[in-house]
Amino acid sequence: MIPYGRQEITEDDVDSVVAVLRSDFLTQGPVVPKFERAVADYCGAAHAVAANSATSALHIACMALGLGPGDWLWTSPITFVATANCALYCGARVDFVDIDPNTYNLCPRALERKLVQAERDGRLPKVLAPVHFAGQSCDMLTVYALSQRYGFRIIEDASHAIGAQYRGEPIGTCRYGDVTVFSFHPVKIITTGEGGMALTNSAELADRMARLRSHGVTRDPTSMTREPDGAWFYQQIDLGMNYRMTELQAALGLSQLSRLDDYVERRHKLARRYDEKLASLSIVLPHQSKDGRSALHLYPIWIDPSQMDRSAVFDRMRRSNIGVNVHYIPVYAQPYHQQRRMLDSTDFPASERYYAGALSLPMFASMTEGQQDQVVAALAEAVRS
Ligand SMILES: *Cc1c(COP(=O)(O)O)cnc(C)c1O
Repeated sequence: MIPYGRQEITEDDVDSVVAVLRSDFLTQGPVVPKFERAVADYCGAAHAVAANSATSALHIACMALGLGPGDWLWTSPITFVATANCALYCGARVDFVDIDPNTYNLCPRALERKLVQAERDGRLPKVLAPVHFAGQSCDMLTVYALSQRYGFRIIEDASHAIGAQYRGEPIGTCRYGDVTVFSFHPVKIITTGEGGMALTNSAELADRMARLRSHGVTRDPTSMTREPDGAWFYQQIDLGMNYRMTELQAALGLSQLSRLDDYVERRHKLARRYDEKLASLSIVLPHQSKDGRSALHLYPIWIDPSQMDRSAVFDRMRRSNIGVNVHYIPVYAQPYHQQRRMLDSTDFPASERYYAGALSLPMFASMTEGQQDQVVAALAEAVRS
């Protein structure tokens, strides 16, 4: 099976992890801060807080922004469930903003319409979590302007988008939002096995997230409620979790980071080849915006359901050992979320339409042209039969 995504592990990666295994620290040592610094510097952000997953990073970002009961977080329905769940962990509620039919990213016009209505109803969101779908930036200039006008905070879910650019700068500068979150799951652009990171330009948010990642405990006397009893002293001042990344993971991440630009470049080469070789098929190829450079986590094609049965194409591809997938089932359609959606439901026509025809083709940096030719051949046959 050619998977839709997978990691690449080099001998350097293996050596980096083994070196940590032979060292004094498996956790809470020097490598995690080094990895955090390296990602922050790569992105041009002031601070980075590593966590054991992007889901954890999203959770501590929500907590650090004070999201809680009575608050709303809005996000795109076309995302992984984790982007919505982080709000529910905080006791807040979730609502969704429909996508743009071309980019499949959260639509800024739909956002503005929904904000106008929410202001009238007195239920403006506290946090918006735009998702850089498939690795392509949302229209952050517009989203940011709306955040200034309506007073919500922004967590960019950039799980797909490390190595991407927007308006000439890396995703992760946090120029257009409070926190940016990356995922290092093996199907993403670079991996630590499991892992994630939250970037911010706010020292206060970074401090809070670092504390929440580790039980809400501080060893910093300036954060304590009284004088320390001695050098051993610590205080728990928040209810935190254990969301720490291990040294092993950080070593793998650091080693992978050195190949990030190369990985994104290889994904672009593959995307250009797909674009050429699939141009004659009656399917919609992924749109690339002019205001940025995608990290190309996914290569989602769209099959018009009125002309072709997506499910049949999916099954034929799988029978040809091509690991196609569907990203994503709209989160509002998940039973858990349906039970918790309150108020009248807004419609999400663009998300519905996208979901009805979506199919992600294999896309990963180590995919060979031979493998890609197999995907192309199988797809050509699948859509013609
Ligand atoms: C993968 C992913 C996550 C969760 O990442 P983990 O590191 O697996 O927790 C969150 N949001 C999006 C959009 C993702 O693709």
